[in-house]
Amino acid sequence: MELGYERPEDRPAAPAPLDRVQEFINTRINLRETGDFRDELASPTALRDWLSARGLLPRRAQLGQHDLDRAIAVREGLRAMLARNNDASEATDAEALRALDEAAAMFPLRVSVGAGAEPVLGPAGPPGFEHALAGLLADVVTARSAGLLSRLKACRDPACRWVFYDSSKNRSGAWCSMAACGAASKKRHFTERRRQQRQRG
Ligand SMILES: [Zn+2]
Repeated sequence: MELGYERPEDRPAAPAPLDRVQEFINTRINLRETGDFRDELASPTALRDWLSARGLLPRRAQLGQHDLDRAIAVREGLRAMLARNNDASEATDAEALRALDEAAAMFPLRVSVGAGAEPVLGPAGPPGFEHALAGLLADVVTARSAGLLSRLKACRDPACRWVFYDSSKNRSGAWCSMAACGAASKKRHFTERRRQQRQRG
């Protein structure tokens, strides 16, 4: 994919099926340098194509603006949730989380019995948009039960919030990429320290 923007090649994707959730959230990329962004889900058709390319939705499904709005609410709510796995505090994301909660209530989920006689959470109802989004949310809940969700983090830079999987032993990853956001943060701190030193001196 051509992003025209340096993105963390050094980070492994989340293990399946959490990698799909990660990919879904990262359909929006904030361009930290310019404040601009790119969105792969810019229209109902683009959303349909994204989901059907991954086998989550029949190719001929018809999606409307309401579906797109709900998908974006889920995406940005999940991003806010995963920013909490980094350094985000409550005040910044209440609205996004509330919108996610509201959207999620509309997606049908069911518990079935898996091959190993274990309970499996998955989407209910016929294939379609709600089935697809329910599947993504089920993967989030399942990952949380497995202790994997806390490793999925939105980058510490609020202007970025790209979602990465922190595979480090001590779960200390903060930036999507040390070369991009990590370096930019270091530079900001350095400049700030210099400024303070000059003021004191
Ligand atoms: Zn970043």
